[in-house]
Amino acid sequence: MPEVEAVVRTLRTLVQGQRIRRVRVFHPIAVKPQKASRLADLATNRLIQRVDRKGKYVLLALDRGLLTVHFRLDGQLIWFLDRRELLERANVKENGVHVDVALEFAKGVLGFADRRHFGRVYAWDCLEDSPGLTSLGVDALSKNFVVPRFLELVAASARPLKDFLLDQSRVAGLGNIYSCESLWHARLDPRRRAKSLKPEEARRLHKAIVSVLARALECCLHPAPDFHDSQWWFQGLEKILRAYGREGEPCRRCGAAIQRIEQGGRSTYFCRKCQK
Ligand SMILES: [Zn+2]
Repeated sequence: MPEVEAVVRTLRTLVQGQRIRRVRVFHPIAVKPQKASRLADLATNRLIQRVDRKGKYVLLALDRGLLTVHFRLDGQLIWFLDRRELLERANVKENGVHVDVALEFAKGVLGFADRRHFGRVYAWDCLEDSPGLTSLGVDALSKNFVVPRFLELVAASARPLKDFLLDQSRVAGLGNIYSCESLWHARLDPRRRAKSLKPEEARRLHKAIVSVLARALECCLHPAPDFHDSQWWFQGLEKILRAYGREGEPCRRCGAAIQRIEQGGRSTYFCRKCQK
């Protein structure tokens, strides 16, 4: 989610207050199960009033309706100077760049791309129509993510901590990497049931989530995303990781080897010795 927040901040400077002149759907799978024509009908000639983030979704609030973008694993945004550059480069064989959906503005074109076609761009009449958005819990980067609310959520869940943190309907915005990292910083075993935490432990976890996300966001903003470069990706995030992806390497706190286990079909990295 810090990655999405960084993308939103950059995107805001490019498209907020701009009118969408034309919508092109190159690969209809990127809007599935919606129809490509729905996106064009809803968004063409609409003004982008605000660019926001909710959980891992990017929201483009239009003067009527809204668009949501979800990147999943590899989705990205690409900025073209104009329609000519878009049509010269989009999905052509040589020196081409993969583009699934493009929004044309008076100055510039925003492309959405996901080679693996997991990411999606959707059009909605109103926010309440989007099941993905209405089911989101409290946003972990927002002011609403406060200790009392978090303690309530923790106490109400019998799931293992790692699954609890990934559940977007409780706390929204934490993915696999930052869930592992938060649990490492809080010195908590990812397999423990959420409701087994003492209030003091839950407070520690809340604090860890806030600081892990703040550090990651700092990292994502320096340097900020560059949509002009289709090869661009976030740099240096691996340097702040203490558990994720470090299987077999020494724990930075106690020196024991970091272990990898499967939880809910995803990899969990943690230190068996100092995460209790
Ligand atoms: Zn350790």
